Amino acid sequence: MGFKVAIDGPAGAGKSTIAKTVAKKLGFIYVDTGAMYRAMALFLMRERVDAGNKEAVERKCAEADITIRYEDDEQVVYLNGENVNGLIRTEQVSNMASQTSKNVTVREKLVSLQQKLAKDTDVVMDGRDIGTCVLPDAEVKVFLTANSRVRAERRCKELTAKGEACDIDAIEKDIIKRDHQDMTREVSPLLPADDAFFIDSSYMTIEQVAEEILGKVKSVWK
Ligand code: C5P
Repeated sequence: MGFKVAIDGPAGAGKSTIAKTVAKKLGFIYVDTGAMYRAMALFLMRERVDAGNKEAVERKCAEADITIRYEDDEQVVYLNGENVNGLIRTEQVSNMASQTSKNVTVREKLVSLQQKLAKDTDVVMDGRDIGTCVLPDAEVKVFLTANSRVRAERRCKELTAKGEACDIDAIEKDIIKRDHQDMTREVSPLLPADDAFFIDSSYMTIEQVAEEILGKVKSVWK
């Protein structure tokens, strides 16, 4: 069966950093489901599919073969055989992913891949619907949040570190828009599971958040 830790929350709450840290400490595999929606979005962008055209998204998404491999402890996403890790972290892909992830056919395809990856193994998985939909039986479910300003500041820091310009107000606006899209969509909206525990990471360090989750894991791991 394996032990499952599900970490859900809005964009920029620190899910992937935390999930990666927790997975490493526990020796579990880490699955970043957002990267799969991003790879699908990249594919649809390249195919010039209009995100608002439901039929076109449904038809085209069947042609995207998305697979995950682990190389040097890192999750690498392959899109039709191409390593796309370096191409999926742009604002353009983020926005396309948020729009195309509303599509039921896209979700069914990626959820089934995620469930397969988690089968019979110990896993830390992060996303928006992991505790509610992908791994409803996860032993530990976390809903990780942070206020939108803090999340925009974190994103700005990342961009500045890469030598890119950033407009914090525009980024915060974008984050709020993406949260709204993710929370109000009909299929698998971003929602805390009933049995999830909340962590507001706004004023916590990565280590503090990771410790809190590890404490929870240890308390239920028999
Ligand atoms: O987590 P990340 O920001 O990389 O996710 C990109 C987008 O993919 C999200 O804004 C969301 O719309 C979508 N997503 C999703 N379900 C998941 C993970 C991501 O709908 N489990």
